[in-house]
Amino acid sequence: MKPSGDEKRERPIRCPICGKLFVPRQSDALPFCSARCRNIDLYRWLREDYSLPLPPRWDEEDELPLDPDADQGD
Ligand SMILES: [Zn+2]
Repeated sequence: MKPSGDEKRERPIRCPICGKLFVPRQSDALPFCSARCRNIDLYRWLREDYSLPLPPRWDEEDELPLDPDADQGD
């Protein structure tokens, strides 16, 4: 006899970080395949959060690229 309810837990899902297929019941870091991928996700999230208040906007105004045709309008 095979309890059909358990079969769902045997179906592999895809880790959103590394894209690896793994069986959910074999992971203790769902929805990731491992604690390592969970940490990667957390790290990315934190880094993006910290980088938001620091937009790279110096050297934006002064260094316009020269148009080669602009000089020879005549
Ligand atoms: Zn993974």
